[in-house]
Amino acid sequence: MRFTFFNDFLALLFPQTCVVCKRSLFDFEKGLCRICEHQLPTTNYHLRPQNNDLSIKIMGLTQATNVMAFLRFSKKGMSQKLLHALKYRKKPEIGRLLGRLYGQKLLEDGFEIRWDGIVPVPLHPLKEKRRGYNQSQMFAEGLSLVLNVPVWKALDRIEFTSTQTKKSRMERISNVEGVFGINQSFEVLGKHLLLVDDVMTTGATLSACANVLLSSKTQQVDLAVIAAGK
Ligand SMILES: [Zn+2]
Repeated sequence: MRFTFFNDFLALLFPQTCVVCKRSLFDFEKGLCRICEHQLPTTNYHLRPQNNDLSIKIMGLTQATNVMAFLRFSKKGMSQKLLHALKYRKKPEIGRLLGRLYGQKLLEDGFEIRWDGIVPVPLHPLKEKRRGYNQSQMFAEGLSLVLNVPVWKALDRIEFTSTQTKKSRMERISNVEGVFGINQSFEVLGKHLLLVDDVMTTGATLSACANVLLSSKTQQVDLAVIAAGK
């Protein structure tokens, strides 16, 4: 409590602003203002989790069951601003907030929560050290808090892949094979897991991770991302 005055003083000098609209935030707002929060471009893919743009995208790549995304992706739109802040502007709270909001939405819409664990797609340790956190884990933590399902860091990243952005779809798929492995401190046999990442572009990364879990006899793997890719 004794730091309250000091914190208020700092807030006067360096007011926190909304990552989308740049308006000054109230104390109770975490990175995103309430007005923007109510305008988030949601996909509602969880209402038809086996028949949507993303479930079609991963067809033939992996046997994941339900596939969903919280937000639609649009270039220069809200979801791009949010992802940019989360990944490049040291705003881990954005990931946790979006996880909490998505968790609330799943509950409100009556989505049946049967997961034993929420597994974030791992970042390479060097990249995580540089960023200070894994953005997918922040999303997992927000979901975990609301859904009361533990976060399981059941996957490890084995190799450092070169950047995916300049590669074709096929190159991306072969580029991520053999990159992920099971963290032996987790027993995934017979479990029902939710695998989460920040964005799905080609689906190569999420599919590679899902395949590692499924080949270790995970009973069911569902996928959720913050935003559907292009
Ligand atoms: Zn705003």
